[in-house]
Amino acid sequence: MKRSAAVGLACLLLLVMTGCTMHKEPVRREIFSMDTHITITCYGKEAEEAADAAAKEIERLNQLWSIGEERSEVCRINKEGGGDVSPETAELLELALRLYAETDRALDVTVLPLMELWGFTSRDPAVPEASAVEKTLQSVDAGRVRLDGQNVQLDEGQGIDLGALAKGYASARAAAVLEAYDIEGAVLSLGGNIQCVGQKPAGKGGTLWRIGIRHPDDAATYLGVLTLTDKAVITSGGYERFFEENGQIYHHILDPSNGYPAKSGLASVTIVSADGALADGLSTACFVMGAERSIEYWKAHAEAFDMILMTDDGKLWITEPLQQIFETEMAVEVIRK
Ligand code: ADP
Ligand code: MG
Repeated sequence: MKRSAAVGLACLLLLVMTGCTMHKEPVRREIFSMDTHITITCYGKEAEEAADAAAKEIERLNQLWSIGEERSEVCRINKEGGGDVSPETAELLELALRLYAETDRALDVTVLPLMELWGFTSRDPAVPEASAVEKTLQSVDAGRVRLDGQNVQLDEGQGIDLGALAKGYASARAAAVLEAYDIEGAVLSLGGNIQCVGQKPAGKGGTLWRIGIRHPDDAATYLGVLTLTDKAVITSGGYERFFEENGQIYHHILDPSNGYPAKSGLASVTIVSADGALADGLSTACFVMGAERSIEYWKAHAEAFDMILMTDDGKLWITEPLQQIFETEMAVEVIRK
């Protein structure tokens, strides 16, 4: 198992100095939560307090959803087959169930038994027997999860794993917490998934954030750089967590239609959206759906997000609105409505 979150983090977050002098050094907090390295960089008068509050909020949500923490809300629901949950969990589940329906089940938070079968929740994952995949797949179907207000009921044998959306939701909530303080701007990286707020102080005014999107084959090179603010920039790729067996790579994003690591022809998907949880859910869903289905989905929901797709054979696609804010030296194909 190779976890390259630290490398991803260092490389995805490209904060390019603009040449102007900054009037204040940023406050930086580094924590380990949500199974990944998190950095919070914050500028402004109350940057210290804001960064601490944001870190606290992320850890609070981690306590709700951690699969490895027996007392978490998700573990309790999985163990007891259902029960009452907090408003945050209900809200995230509601989004997950909506995306399940809209993506024709590419995003299915009931993948937990499959993740366990593959050993992705342990230290030594391995390829399971085909018959075991087939059998486990029978309990994977978010369409059988019942959510009624803050009450969740799972079907027999089901278990939920909010890992596909949790970091995006947490970074959006942390950003909302930050904004209650007197700050000029902040950028959060949750294992390379970015959320930016306000502006980066520079000279007399501020500048937008410049976010480098890493190349899926090489953490040291970029597909390009986005210039923006008040958005989440969230990437899913097979390179994030994987193992190798008999010369084959098996990664952690599973295709709920067959129970195997998704092979959709995409090497990475980056979603840009004002809604962090949506961006995270869609990064996983689009990675499973592949280019054609993702483009179709974007055309129907273009007001909610934009995307950068990199295919296994090296083609780069961006949705039309990103043309203004994405710089790259690579050839790009533009996806138009
Ligand atoms: P990362 O967490 O590495 O940033 P993702 O946001 O794509 O990447 O989420 C991957 C996680 O989502 C997996 O580790 C697993 O917990 C869960 N997962 C895997 N496949 C699916 C799927 N098809 N639908 C929903 N959740 C999934
Ligand atoms: Mg995701």
